[in-house]
Amino acid sequence: MEQAVSSFLGQSGQLEKVRFKNGTEIKRRAGFVMSEMVPNIQLVENLGCEKEQSGTLKTDDFGRTSIKDLYIAGDASYVNPSQLIFAAADGSRTAAAVNMDLTKEDF
Ligand SMILES: Cc1cc2nc3c(=O)[nH]c(=O)nc-3n(C[C@H](O)[C@H](O)[C@H](O)COP(=O)(O)OP(=O)(O)OC[C@H]3O[C@@H](n4cnc5c(N)ncnc54)[C@H](O)[C@@H]3O)c2cc1C
Repeated sequence: MEQAVSSFLGQSGQLEKVRFKNGTEIKRRAGFVMSEMVPNIQLVENLGCEKEQSGTLKTDDFGRTSIKDLYIAGDASYVNPSQLIFAAADGSRTAAAVNMDLTKEDF
């Protein structure tokens, strides 16, 4: 079935029916909702950071962006998988790269 949903109907937080834009309804007690993930990258985008076709920010394998000394980790730099554990790991890897780059810097 490929009809646009207009509303979910039910009582006391329990789904009973799904109503479609064409007026038809079906009885349902549960369902799955697939949301579209859109990274919130406006701040960095405004700085002129290069983007991937997917809409995320372009980085190398260590979170370095197209702008020198600007690093990105987490959902802003990849589409999937969008999960806390990956964002945390990516943050750790990027932090290591920041540390490495600072160590190599000739101040
Ligand atoms: C509805 C939903 C359900 C999810 N469920 C799960 C789940 O069950 N398990 C799981 O592992 N993952 C889940 N995720 C994914 C998980 O939340 C993300 O992968 C994770 O939070 C990414 O971490 P992050 O640090 O990259 O980004 P975020 O957690 O989004 O952190 C980015 C931060 O930057 C801030 N920010 C953005 N722009 C600006 C700005 N201009 N100035 C100042 N601050 C700014 C935001 O307010 C935010 O606090 C879910 C995501 C969503 C949307």
